[in-house]
Amino acid sequence: MRTLRIGSRGSDVMEIQALLRKIGYNPGPIDGIFGQQTQQAVIQFQRDKGLTPDGIIGPNTYNALGKFLIGYVIYIIRPGDTLYNIALRSYTNLARLLAANPEIDPNNLRVGQRIIVPYGIDVVDTNINYTYEIMERDIQGLKTRYPFIEIGVAGLSVLGRNLYYIKLGNGPNEVFYNGAHHALEWITSPVLMKFVEDFAKAYVERRNIRGYNIRDIWNQSTIYIMPMVNPDGVDLVINGLQPDNPYYEELITWNNGRMNFSEVWQANIRGVDLNHNYDAAWELSKQAERRLGIFGPGPTRYSGPYPESEPESKAVADFTRNHDFRLVLAYHSQGEVIYWNFMDMAPPEARRIGELFSQVSGYVLEELYGIASYAGYKDWFIQEYRRPGYTIEVGKGKNPLPISQFDKIYNDNIELMLLAAVV
Ligand SMILES: [Zn+2]
Repeated sequence: MRTLRIGSRGSDVMEIQALLRKIGYNPGPIDGIFGQQTQQAVIQFQRDKGLTPDGIIGPNTYNALGKFLIGYVIYIIRPGDTLYNIALRSYTNLARLLAANPEIDPNNLRVGQRIIVPYGIDVVDTNINYTYEIMERDIQGLKTRYPFIEIGVAGLSVLGRNLYYIKLGNGPNEVFYNGAHHALEWITSPVLMKFVEDFAKAYVERRNIRGYNIRDIWNQSTIYIMPMVNPDGVDLVINGLQPDNPYYEELITWNNGRMNFSEVWQANIRGVDLNHNYDAAWELSKQAERRLGIFGPGPTRYSGPYPESEPESKAVADFTRNHDFRLVLAYHSQGEVIYWNFMDMAPPEARRIGELFSQVSGYVLEELYGIASYAGYKDWFIQEYRRPGYTIEVGKGKNPLPISQFDKIYNDNIELMLLAAVV
């Protein structure tokens, strides 16, 4: 981690601001700019924690903030402790404490025993630019808090980042939700991550969500979630082109000489549009892109040299082949639209299910023609399996959608994601 001080800018500053806000300080607007208000909040935090109050986030302050970032601390049981009292002191509840420590006997705590104490605050932040690093830490934080969820890696991106998936449930009905095939559409990653957290939390606390019994879904279905299919692209869009990027020179060329990728780059780090890289009318996609004047890597719409040429799309396709998905959702932004068909190959029930999705989300159900309708993930899934597959375009506006749209997007989609697991 780099040292942060007044004048620092970036997604890491944003993350710290969001954290300070979450634990009761006032850093000012969560804008990724380390100004005086953020400095004052850091000084206050340092005072409270007995650190040198210099307003600079170096190793010691990072360390103190770190346990809040991952959302838990390791606690050693002392004489006289009860789980109830620990929960009370830590602003959490007994159900969460027991969930994070499935092996302990609450009536027989041993002095010196190590337990995980999750904080009462949520893990997944929904008010910051959601980088791969933040997602990775959130996945670790959720796994520690909710050890019953399963985490896996389906493959590696071009630059070696993990293509994480999360498994919720144990039932025979398998479904698959993925997000951020397109770099500018990273808002879909926190949508899926927040869903993981809410689902796990409701499971522990035996609560319903929108009238859906989470334990029933858990037993009936297995939900696989890959929140970020294109982590290299998301990193490029949010953090900018870094000098150590092995494709540094090529990326500038592919981006028509521009250094700014934050408003245009949809592809992976080799300039391939992952959602045009699947083996479904891929030749038609190729022809269409040539008519658009696209003959090689670039910010968007280049289908690659051959289907599944990219490790990210190959990993998603392999992951799909290795399971038996009854239904898939591919999350994109924007438009508040649900696409449900591919060359009339979707099964009859796909439209009916799509209409239900439309009802619970308020999104419009549509078919798609032209270049956007070839060689996408849902196209390939429908063609290969003749089962329901959907592209869901969340939010409205120009990509990348600002994170301020998160609450509406999540609210529109949470029931859809629950319904998709049981429909
Ligand atoms: Zn997209």
